[in-house]
Amino acid sequence: MLKKIGFALLIVIVGLGIAFAMLTRRPSPPASQAFVNANVLTMNRTNEVAEAVFIEDERITAVGTRAEIEAMITSGTEVHDIGGRTLIPGFIDAHGHFPGTGLVTQAVDLNSPPIGEIESIEQIVEKLRTYATDKPKGEWIMGLAYDDTLVAEKRHPTRHDLDRASTEHPIVASHVSGHLSVANTKALELAGITAETPDPQGGIIRREEDGHPSGVLEETAARPLSEKAMNIGASGLLEMIDHAAAEYSSVGVTTAQSGLSNELIIDGLYLAHMLGKIPFRLELFGDADVGRKIVSGEMDPSSYQGDYFNLGAIKIVGDGSIQGYTGYLSEPYHVPFEGDVDYRGYPTLKREDLAELVSTLHSADLQMAIHGNGDAAIDDIIYAVEGAQSKHKRDDPRLIVIHAQMARDDQLDRMKELGITPSFFVAHTYYWGDRHRDIFMGPERAARMSPAATALKKEVPFSIHLDSPVVPMQPTLLVWSAVNRLSTSGKVIGPAERIGVIEALRAVTIDAAWQIFQEDNRGSIETGKFADLVVLAENPIEHPTRIRDIKVDRTVVGGHTTFVREN
Ligand SMILES: [Zn+2]
Repeated sequence: MLKKIGFALLIVIVGLGIAFAMLTRRPSPPASQAFVNANVLTMNRTNEVAEAVFIEDERITAVGTRAEIEAMITSGTEVHDIGGRTLIPGFIDAHGHFPGTGLVTQAVDLNSPPIGEIESIEQIVEKLRTYATDKPKGEWIMGLAYDDTLVAEKRHPTRHDLDRASTEHPIVASHVSGHLSVANTKALELAGITAETPDPQGGIIRREEDGHPSGVLEETAARPLSEKAMNIGASGLLEMIDHAAAEYSSVGVTTAQSGLSNELIIDGLYLAHMLGKIPFRLELFGDADVGRKIVSGEMDPSSYQGDYFNLGAIKIVGDGSIQGYTGYLSEPYHVPFEGDVDYRGYPTLKREDLAELVSTLHSADLQMAIHGNGDAAIDDIIYAVEGAQSKHKRDDPRLIVIHAQMARDDQLDRMKELGITPSFFVAHTYYWGDRHRDIFMGPERAARMSPAATALKKEVPFSIHLDSPVVPMQPTLLVWSAVNRLSTSGKVIGPAERIGVIEALRAVTIDAAWQIFQEDNRGSIETGKFADLVVLAENPIEHPTRIRDIKVDRTVVGGHTTFVREN
């Protein structure tokens, strides 16, 4: 997703180069603060509950009883009596694509309920047509997050549908999975995609009977169009960042993630960070090219590594998404794709190519985060790590499998042995649960997806995430989803994989910090750590069925308050 904003960032680098001279410093936190009269869920090793916290500058210096902390207060201390509300460590985005949620400022939102309002292809066409009316001819129009399974027609729009919105503007609309897009005829023309264009490696150009592109482009086939459409300029990009930053802060995010960033994006976000545009910590996962450049010495990651901006793992993509029929499964899809009863999806990289890439990065002691949804893709990842570990044994690689949606029991066992840690997109049970059961995977596999309870039982450490902008950034919904696994129609998807509230909270705080090697400085409320905190309006442990509705009242990053709920 972030790859798309490359062009815009190039302009930002030029545009903001001048502004760089006027560098604004991060606002400094109060010299000392106390949070008292609180229900402090510390998330330390024993899940201790405390009553108060003392903060000096950006760090927590004491956690204890109200009396203990009140004894430390001096005349200069800023005191927050939070009236018995709950204080937890700030939420860590274990996998997502900041500032992707800000794209709504530059594009047409085509989400269906419960996120948006689109219920038919006609509505998609109408919304794009209305939006295009005000735009100069030739300007790219972007649509976001349509879902073929939630429109009345139960199919993807085609180029002919989008041509009815405009033939004078190139239009590209992304599927809700982020793994497919549909383009109109004008956009295909500008990208040079014709009946003669072969499918690229790792992607498919869907065709009409005579071989002409239908408009639907899978995986790598969609990338050239997305890049053209994303040429939104410096002001557009800053709007995106501002929008996403305010949104993340309002829901308690204190560490965000930009997964799959190329060099241009890393530079652009670094500038935005230096300009004080990013009010929380940002963890970046560079793409495979960044990984290769670090290995060859062409790129020095240390200039991008610090407490607020950190280039960490290298992200590799192993397959697509199951709800886009591009996830790579070991057994066929439940409802066959286009009538093909043997169809199992496909890997992004050939098994041996993946193994070679993983081995190269692993031997250079880089951390990796590999996207794998289907269990066949996870088999390939495990195979690659086995090969890499046999050549160059590392005790603690913490190789992350992003999503690990269909991880089987035997794969979780193997992950534990190899030092692999999954990050589950558990909110799939909410947003797509009914359709995974009825369409993509069938009831048995749907019940096993995102197997957080099995991972807990097997003591495989894991985190949970939302992959925003794939779904909105809402950590309380994520925790609620891990605890309840309710679908949008109110059915429990896989009751055996539900986990407890504390375990779910740990998976978005301390365990997510551990996964990116940051557990010594954040993720729990303990002396010496950064004061990254969230005040919740209610205690999630007392209200497990409605955690998603619990409001964030205050967000604190390194002692500095980045959000306060009004009223
Ligand atoms: Zn992602």
